[in-house]
Parts: sequence; structure tokens; C-alpha cells
Amino acid sequence: MGLIDADAGLSTVFDDIEDLARNCRFRDCGHSTEPGCAVREALESGVLDAGRWASFQKLSQELAALEVTKDRMAQEVERRRQAMLQKAYRSNKKDLRDQ
Ligand SMILES: [Zn+2]
Repeated sequence: MGLIDADAGLSTVFDDIEDLARNCRFRDCGHSTEPGCAVREALESGVLDAGRWASFQKLSQELAALEVTKDRMAQEVERRRQAMLQKAYRSNKKDLRDQ
């Protein structure tokens, strides 16, 4: 695996689980206690390997955590950008007054 998009990466590596999840009764199924969960059914019938499911969950969590970090960083960048613009705006106004 190289530098691939995180979402594409997860569904590429775990395409069988992605396929199973599409058969869940609820689109936002958490695959834990939801009724009509295709993933749990596959786990119980042995179609889906429990270890494979565990690594999928682990990876999804890690990717989700990464997304949060990415969002926070984006927010921080935006906050700094706004601060810089405001500072520039204020000093610009001050320059105009001084003239
Ligand atoms: Zn499910």
C-alpha cells in the first residue's frame, strides 16, 4: 500500500466487509447490537472471520481519530488565517488614519 486515500484504502482492503455492511438493515448500522445487522450475522455464521472484523474495527477507529486530528488542524489553520487577516486589516486602517 502506498499513499492512497484513507476511505478508498479501507474499502479496498476490506471490500468484503463493505459489501456485508451494505446488507445491514440500517444504513448507519454500528454493527454491534442493531437488529438485522448483516455483519453480525456473517460473524455468527462464520462467513466473516472474527479476527478480520477486529482489524477492520481497529483500522476504522484509527482512521476516524486521524480525521478528527485533520479537522482540528484545519480549524487551527483557519483560525490563524482569520487572525492574520484581522491584524492586517487593523494595521491597514491604522495606516490610513495616520496619513
Ligand atoms: Zn451492521
